[in-house]
Amino acid sequence: MENLTETTDHRHRRIILFPLPYQGHLNPMLQLANILYSKGFSITILHTNFNAPKTSNYPHFTFKSVLDNAPQDERYTNIASQGLGSFDRIFLLNQYGADELREELEILLRDGQVSCLITDALWHFTQSVADSLNLPRLVLRTSSLFCFLLYASIPLFDDRGYFELSDNRVPELEEEVVEFPMLKVKDILKMGFKSKNDTVGECISSMVKQTKASSGIIWNSIKELEEPELEMMLHDFPVPSFLIPFPKHLTASSSSLLDQDRTFFPWLDLQPPNSVLYVSFGSVIQVEEKDFLEIAHGLVDSKQAFIWVVRPGFIKGSDWLEPLPDGFVGEMGRIVKWVPQQEVLAHNAIGAFWTHSGWNSTFESVCEGVPMICSPFWGDQPLNARYISEVTKVGVCLENGWEREAIASAIKRVMMDQEIRERAKVLKQKLDVSLIKGGSTYESLDSLAAYISSFPV
Ligand code: UDP
Repeated sequence: MENLTETTDHRHRRIILFPLPYQGHLNPMLQLANILYSKGFSITILHTNFNAPKTSNYPHFTFKSVLDNAPQDERYTNIASQGLGSFDRIFLLNQYGADELREELEILLRDGQVSCLITDALWHFTQSVADSLNLPRLVLRTSSLFCFLLYASIPLFDDRGYFELSDNRVPELEEEVVEFPMLKVKDILKMGFKSKNDTVGECISSMVKQTKASSGIIWNSIKELEEPELEMMLHDFPVPSFLIPFPKHLTASSSSLLDQDRTFFPWLDLQPPNSVLYVSFGSVIQVEEKDFLEIAHGLVDSKQAFIWVVRPGFIKGSDWLEPLPDGFVGEMGRIVKWVPQQEVLAHNAIGAFWTHSGWNSTFESVCEGVPMICSPFWGDQPLNARYISEVTKVGVCLENGWEREAIASAIKRVMMDQEIRERAKVLKQKLDVSLIKGGSTYESLDSLAAYISSFPV
């Protein structure tokens, strides 16, 4: 992990960063901010009041709240605070945010010394704002490169009629996607679009277009993991790409929106190496009560020790664990509301991670050499799951519904699979080597700092 005060060479240069206000986007942006601070830059974070970061955890940064400062604004009051519906905020702010953001940036630019703006790729409206102010904009894309290339191919998939296929067209759904042979057509449908022109499809295609127009792309990934995809990116998107494995530099603990439980660590410390399954489905996913109960039965039937993160609101219609009979999991496992995930994954008692295959969770697991059971829901998750099970082969997919026998047997299989564990270990070693002077991460980070320093201020 990196020393935060490595150098102060360019401390007079300021970088303004603007994350999307969701856990899976705040974590990598604040990790990036810390990494850039360690390279000597001053940092200003723009944030919305919705899911605002805990500013007291970052005394070395300046924070400025922007955009949804009026809670009485009825465009925002009806947006769900949990689950998929909460993403409606992204569409609204992309539509209405430009003028206010420009005013805020003008004020910040008056103070001088601003090198560039770095925004989440999904804030696609910020490219025209940055252009109008002559301010270079870099993009942080919080998915894999593989997923981005898929998103860039949506018009192609739409023209092929993939999005019109329905469940009863099974033979076509099982066909390979020619350009991405590790995927089946059904994986594309699971991403959740209905066409390139629905709200999500339009947002994604604007994201792709404005990423292409940006001054550079920063990825939470590593060349050793996605080399062919990096080559395709450099070919199709002629802007510099910088691949940096954020979890290898810092944990995401300080950007956690929920309080982290640490009370289970003394129990975890007592467990043998590789004996505990860690289970979490991220910060957004919600499940039906009947599926939750299948998961609970599958875990208990597997007879493996486990730590299971059940976020309040994870079960639709319940506050927390009401559907589970008291004492159901007994001494075999621990159910907790939220944990310092990277610390858990790094613990030597953890033998595998049952995940929803969000990119941060997937990559954190890769960084710690932990094999995965992948149960994707939507968006980039089906793509990450396929990449992990078919390309890197450090995980297996557990899909097609929730059924306790299938769950228990997948858990037993992966916890005992020495080959998958060995592959995960080898991949982790490659990541570790990339951090050393001359390694791909080391070079990428240095060239990012040099690139930002080359912008006139
Ligand atoms: N996370 C955490 N504690 C938990 C569960 C998750 O800190 O108990 C973090 C996890 O480390 C990751 C993020 O929440 O950085 C989830 O992001 P991801 O992209 O995996 O999924 P999303 O929540 O966006 O669906």
